[in-house]
Amino acid sequence: MPLPDFTPISAMVAADGEWEWSQLHQFVPHDVLEHIACIKPPFQTTLLYSSGWLWCGDCGFSVKSSYDTRYNYPIGRVDNVWSVLKKFLGVPRVKSFLWLVCKGCVLTNFERARQHLIDFTGCVTCCAALEDLDHLLRLCPIPQLICSSLVRQYRVHEFFTLPISVWVRVNFQNPRYFSASESDWDILFGAILWNLWLFRNRRIFDPESDQIDNVMSCSRRLRDETCQALASVAAQPSILVGARPLEVTWCPPSADSIKVNVDYGRRLAGGVTPCGGVAELWAVYEGLKCAMSLNVQKLIVKSDSREVIGILSSQGRRATPSSLLESIRALAAQNCEVVFQHVFREGNRVADAMTHLFSMDTFAMRLYLYPPYEVLEILHADVCS
Ligand SMILES: [Zn+2]
Repeated sequence: MPLPDFTPISAMVAADGEWEWSQLHQFVPHDVLEHIACIKPPFQTTLLYSSGWLWCGDCGFSVKSSYDTRYNYPIGRVDNVWSVLKKFLGVPRVKSFLWLVCKGCVLTNFERARQHLIDFTGCVTCCAALEDLDHLLRLCPIPQLICSSLVRQYRVHEFFTLPISVWVRVNFQNPRYFSASESDWDILFGAILWNLWLFRNRRIFDPESDQIDNVMSCSRRLRDETCQALASVAAQPSILVGARPLEVTWCPPSADSIKVNVDYGRRLAGGVTPCGGVAELWAVYEGLKCAMSLNVQKLIVKSDSREVIGILSSQGRRATPSSLLESIRALAAQNCEVVFQHVFREGNRVADAMTHLFSMDTFAMRLYLYPPYEVLEILHADVCS
């Protein structure tokens, strides 16, 4: 059935602020409803329903915000690259290489020629006349092919034209800025740069080894091994990584607190996979509502999505004009002390298992008063850990 002309969105919002599903079902097919379900209805009390400027906290346009967005990427100063690299959790040899990259001290052929070590400045892979750092890491055909397939299409030009130190900083400071398809992009990005350098050197002695798949497969393997090593180190409670204790098993909160672990579901078999970050925000929202209804005074919200925790902890530092986020902040500001913390997947297994129990055919929340049978074993392991 077609929608009547000039139907405002508010006509599809119920009195309790949620979507009026009985109305929407009449006009919209189910696959579109699934998209709508990911979007919180307009937040009536603090946000006007209007178009807004994404890069400003109050959604209003300003020349300064557009200048900052254009030249400072996304936040901060260029020299902050050192503080960002300091927190890099990849293996030390990659970290050292990244340090050299930002200092412009990698011995490319251009740099060797500049130091009068050789008189050949060209690239041995593509025979370009100049192999400098930009060419080695971005402009040579191999990094071009690899990165073009991983970077968001509308940011490809930006990815390949930023100054090197800004480029490195943005990829580590905001891993989701350029890539949405790969997990732990910051660690993978460092591994790709490292392997490009390794393969470039190996090519001199073994020309058959310069396969693109090798660079990517080696980088993904290094990323996975690094993440496993981090989880393994974090399993030892006395060890700190980056001056920050890591939690890989579920830990009970203090006696006066309640902990909410959230995760998002996926059902690959049916081709249905919700957008992870939004689904996690929804889970946080529903968890907060439950906690408020129980009059909880101290709440710890844990998610294995660094991006979600980063957004929730930023307190508006980054502009995110989302009614869902506004709703979460409004709930968190109610008479309750709320802390958002990241947890590794190993410490979030019950929440992960719970997401597999529900059907995506319905958008209604399901409340369990007792743990379902399917998660009892994991729950027992968490209690014993
Ligand atoms: Zn080249």
